[in-house]
Amino acid sequence: MYKSEYLNRVYESIVKRDPNEPEYLQAVREVFESLDLVVDKHPEWEKAGLIERFVEPERVLEFRVPWVDDQGKVQVNRGYRVQYNSAIGPYKGGLRFHPSVNLSVIKFLGFEQTLKNSLTTLPMGGGKGGSDFDPKGRSDAEVMRFCQSFMTEMARHIGQFTDVPAGDIGVGGREVGYLYGQFKRIVNRFEAGAITGKGIPFGGSLARTQATGYGLCYFASEALKKQRNDSFAGKKVVISGSGNVAQYAAEKCMQLGGTVVAMSDSNGYVVDERGIDLEKLFDIKQKRRARIRVYAEEVPGSEYHEGCKGIWGVKCDIALPCASQNEMDAEGARALVANGAMGVFEGANMPLTPEAIAVIQSAGLLYAPGKASNAGGVATSGLEMSQNSLRMAWSFEEVDQKLSGIMENIYNACYAASEECGCPGDLMVGANVAGFLKVAEAMMAQGVV
Ligand code: NDP
Repeated sequence: MYKSEYLNRVYESIVKRDPNEPEYLQAVREVFESLDLVVDKHPEWEKAGLIERFVEPERVLEFRVPWVDDQGKVQVNRGYRVQYNSAIGPYKGGLRFHPSVNLSVIKFLGFEQTLKNSLTTLPMGGGKGGSDFDPKGRSDAEVMRFCQSFMTEMARHIGQFTDVPAGDIGVGGREVGYLYGQFKRIVNRFEAGAITGKGIPFGGSLARTQATGYGLCYFASEALKKQRNDSFAGKKVVISGSGNVAQYAAEKCMQLGGTVVAMSDSNGYVVDERGIDLEKLFDIKQKRRARIRVYAEEVPGSEYHEGCKGIWGVKCDIALPCASQNEMDAEGARALVANGAMGVFEGANMPLTPEAIAVIQSAGLLYAPGKASNAGGVATSGLEMSQNSLRMAWSFEEVDQKLSGIMENIYNACYAASEECGCPGDLMVGANVAGFLKVAEAMMAQGVV
């Protein structure tokens, strides 16, 4: 499968060891395709067993999360924390609460996170965690009890120098607040740098909420400018999802002159050709925690469609998948190409199937993988940790400016690595290689650990 015998051997060994982890294997396969272009130049890696060590998480924690629901019934969920790689800093990565969470999903996310964090240039290793708990339809009190139980186990494994969790799907400001409250109570320290995405009054960073979505648009703007001499101005944009990443990607898109014509949730999507009314969307999603269907019920002229995959058939210039993994398949990608789209920039982690990526790339569209284009969230979490250590708070503008600079640097690093690998503009190769080389150098220097 790969040119490199070494990579073939390592891949076969992980398939043998973890045959029931499809998302994890998919993520590794994709990264190996890029490493195949550089591995022969580094015979020292094989000698040091570097890739074997890189694909194996440093530590996997799996634990019981018992809690009592509003009816007084005991519920039991499963919690995870995968401490993937600490070569360049403490483990760092979000927590996902969603019924689809399992070890394969958390491992794939931790693996991707390691490369993403390396790209940010900040000193953060990779980790990820979560639970199969579904916060949808649960009361605030149930969510709080669940978060407290989850943290009761996780507290002993995290800390500002050890492992720093944050939010992800199903874990927003409310959940981070409950998690931090319980952490502080257990360790009896105000160790703010142990969790990011906190509320502003207790050590959160301004612009962290907006950072992933804004960063995605900053990255896409760089690619549009440098590879197409173009911008968001006047473009029609389709954004999947309507959570944290999607909402602020939509806001920044509009600030940059784009029109967001469709957004979704896991039940369906809405189309509003005049441009999504963001105030209405924020009210529905942030305040009322309601379904996106409500948007079409309340905004005349918009339409609701059941099922989320059809969103890629809505005509647009730019697509920003911001919901979940494997949400765009080859059929969705073909629909985008047929409608004349010019670029796909991933806000979610691994939202395109390998077949969809092949369709998009072979049609010559701009394509950016999430580990580069959605790195603004974790980069700003890194800035939150810096502010916590300094015991200072920067203004929104200061953080936003740093974020925009980081995204520009990530774009430039990915482009430069793609050129060095002989495929200029292939940002997937660029992101994988640039992210890996730094981790590899640190791992080589630290010996067999
Ligand atoms: P949220 O929970 O805030 O929002 C997730 C959105 O995606 C919701 O609209 C949700 O719909 C939808 N969704 C979730 N699962 C599915 C699915 N299987 N099929 C279709 N739609 C789905 O999460 P975030 O916005 O924080 O995260 C979105 C993506 O971005 C994830 O891949 C995450 O890993 C990635 N990411 C997030 C970062 C962050 O800072 N938050 C940083 C970097 C990446 P519904 O409400 O119906 O479930």
